[in-house]
Amino acid sequence: MVRRLSTFASAISLLLCLTTAAMWVRSHWIIGSVVYTTPHREGNDVVDRSWVIFGSPGRIGLARTEYTHGDVTAEELKELVHPGEWSHYSVPASDYWDKADAVFFYDASDWRFHGFGFYLYVSGGEYNKILELPYWAIFLLFAVLPLFALRRILRVRGRKVRGLCVACGYDLRASPKRCPECGVVIRNGKLPLAKSVGLN
Ligand SMILES: [Zn+2]
Repeated sequence: MVRRLSTFASAISLLLCLTTAAMWVRSHWIIGSVVYTTPHREGNDVVDRSWVIFGSPGRIGLARTEYTHGDVTAEELKELVHPGEWSHYSVPASDYWDKADAVFFYDASDWRFHGFGFYLYVSGGEYNKILELPYWAIFLLFAVLPLFALRRILRVRGRKVRGLCVACGYDLRASPKRCPECGVVIRNGKLPLAKSVGLN
């Protein structure tokens, strides 16, 4: 059960790792953002609140922004308040400087470290909180489980090929029925593969 769960987790992790790699490559060609904006009324004000996922070369960012329209009239209220809406922008990365306005927060962070970034801006009616993460870090994070799984598979395979116990690595050429070291039973001359509990 534990083994099955860990195999499942490794498979999911591998999928995420490959997806990250694809997005990483894409981020050097296309940058953009997906925005969800929901304006709502607060007393006499209208607050535009947005959640943003944005991409810039090598990085992905998350942002929350608020813009407050103070003391709006009844007429403005009608215009400003509407149901939440999605919008999406993308431009070729090479075009960025021409179309900067089309993309939220490209190069936004004040604090940066190897692609990590953080930015907080609060002033008047404005509020922006931005977090940026580098694709390399996300890629590495998702690569950990698949790498461990690969190591396990290679080790088991290597032991089978060399006629060693898959569970403990003991040389089984002299005792082909049962491992004298850890007790694993070999059926029909075959070493158990997945049954090998606690591979070390
Ligand atoms: Zn053994």
